[in-house]
Amino acid sequence: MTDTDDRYTKERARLLEEIAEGARETAALTGRARFSDRVMRAIAAVPRHEFVAADQQAYAYFNRPLSIGRGQTISQPFIVAVMTELLDLEPGDSVLEVGTGCGYQAAVLAELVERVYSVETIAALATAARERLEALGYDTVDIRIGDGFEGWPEKAPFDAIIVTAAPTEIPGTLIEQMKPGGRLVIPIGPQHDSQTLFRCVKESDGRLSAQRILPVAFVPMIKGPEN
Ligand code: SAH
Repeated sequence: MTDTDDRYTKERARLLEEIAEGARETAALTGRARFSDRVMRAIAAVPRHEFVAADQQAYAYFNRPLSIGRGQTISQPFIVAVMTELLDLEPGDSVLEVGTGCGYQAAVLAELVERVYSVETIAALATAARERLEALGYDTVDIRIGDGFEGWPEKAPFDAIIVTAAPTEIPGTLIEQMKPGGRLVIPIGPQHDSQTLFRCVKESDGRLSAQRILPVAFVPMIKGPEN
């Protein structure tokens, strides 16, 4: 182990403690005072410093969002953890992510489930994320350049869907692409105003039940490919 690896190991352990503390502090809102061991292990396993530019690596294990270029951001690790927790993932699940960004959330998902499909509208980000995940050995993640409002019909239905950019309402196409019993975790709201994280479940009769979780701040979900 090099000095750098050692430093990151310590920083990552501290970050996990901060996430656990965040879970306790927000328990009244999320209903989860403690995140599952599987989710915490997944966060511990993903080298977040590999997902950000060199000048941001020193902050990779701070519990805060980071810039990933093109005006986009990688979420605060606590938010990645709580969203992942709320998906209630099983090892055999097939998951759709909307908003690949740098691929960090996709890597966390890949630690937990069999197959991850991720859609990104900015071609340069999608390509970079694909190369990065491949180099790190994440070979169960498929990335498509496209519009997340359309989901990924060829790979549907999904056990879970996570949206990491905020639309103003829940896209109907994504609901269609969920299995009965499937979970959807999504921030909803206008760009510069308050957004709310929702956890939704598709009931066996096809209806969606939605639960408000937390106030959040995400980049807006943009209509149409922006290449
Ligand atoms: N989950 C990412 C962070 C996502 S930031 C990570 O772990 O790095 C939000 C991303 O959503 C940005 O990369 C943005 O380009 C993308 N995005 C915005 N609108 C989109 C849409 N309609 N379809 C797909 N991706 C979209």
